[in-house]
Amino acid sequence: MKFGTKAIHAGIEPDSSTGAIMTPIFQTSTYVQKSPGDHQGYEYSRTHNPTRTALQNNLAALENGKFGLCFSSGLGAIDAIIKLLNPGDEVISTNDLYGGSYRIFTKVFQRYGIKFHFISMENPSDIENYVNANTKLIWAETPTNPMMNIIDIEQIGKVAKKHQLLFAVDNTFATPFLQNPLDLGADMVMHSVTKYLGGHSDVVMGAIVVNDQTLADQLAFIQNACGATPGPQDCFLVLRGIKTLHLRMERHCQNGREIAHFLKSHPKVDKVYWPGFESHPNHEVAKKQMRDFGGMISFTIKGDRVDDAKTVLENLHYFSLAESLGGVESLCGHPASMTHASIPKAEREKVGLLDSLIRLSVGIEDVEDLKADLDAALAKV
Ligand SMILES: *Cc1c(COP(=O)(O)O)cnc(C)c1O
Repeated sequence: MKFGTKAIHAGIEPDSSTGAIMTPIFQTSTYVQKSPGDHQGYEYSRTHNPTRTALQNNLAALENGKFGLCFSSGLGAIDAIIKLLNPGDEVISTNDLYGGSYRIFTKVFQRYGIKFHFISMENPSDIENYVNANTKLIWAETPTNPMMNIIDIEQIGKVAKKHQLLFAVDNTFATPFLQNPLDLGADMVMHSVTKYLGGHSDVVMGAIVVNDQTLADQLAFIQNACGATPGPQDCFLVLRGIKTLHLRMERHCQNGREIAHFLKSHPKVDKVYWPGFESHPNHEVAKKQMRDFGGMISFTIKGDRVDDAKTVLENLHYFSLAESLGGVESLCGHPASMTHASIPKAEREKVGLLDSLIRLSVGIEDVEDLKADLDAALAKV
């Protein structure tokens, strides 16, 4: 099956009792057994639920993986991956990453004796400087949030293999439509399903896809034992959202391209971060591992004043000022005070995340309206 066909059909069968073409919302906590242990594969909905099973199988297919696991949020999925480790283990992570990932690593798991090294992975061989006998996991996010750096998944996969390390990729920004990390050597791909996969800003959910049976069993054990599982109604909404993932992504990419070029030629705009520019430092890697460049763009305003960034954000109309990304509607945000406020200023500035940086999640509206909106807001500066 090709991608669009998978989005609509993979893992999904008409309901066997009625023929309903849409996977029912199995809103049940438990399942009746004929005699003790004699059941139809379902005992309790934290462990398994048929609506969730359909979604997990669909997500596995989209990532070219064998096993999918859904969690009650993206951070619930990250939590499960780190729980594969033991006290004393070490993780090497990208330094420009989702603020909540940085927070769970440093404020939660560090207390349990797991050590994290945050480094730039633009040069994958740098990772080897941090590998020692305790290293267990490489954690990478690409494109990075919000600086839109691109990390070479295939090269990092080689480093991971050489040192027998687990390698996980947060694929939230790219989505399986643009990039499939398992095909490039990752062991685990993680998503905040809340974003493009759900696509309609109405669900919070996370997912992991893997190929290895042992890893799948360990993660399924954690999923059930720790209990961060999503409800069936949310699984239904995501199954519905995914049916148009390929169409939405095509438009996100097309609008993203136009907005990136528009901003680049705007007299008030200083830097524009978008991997589709030939001048982007990792453009060649982006071209190699991504099918297109997505709808996430960050930019700074000339003069680099935080008040100018605020003026623009307050005056945008179709770009709503809100956390999150990946929905059909355009969003804008101020990473330094919103998504990345949990990262200390000194750490933020190391990766170039200035106080005047604005991040856009370009939606699927008509692009002329979006350009006019940005133009009007920038005129107030
Ligand atoms: C939102 C996000 C997360 C966390 O996911 P939640 O669903 O909000 O828990 C993790 N990584 C990235 C890149 C994100 O954008």
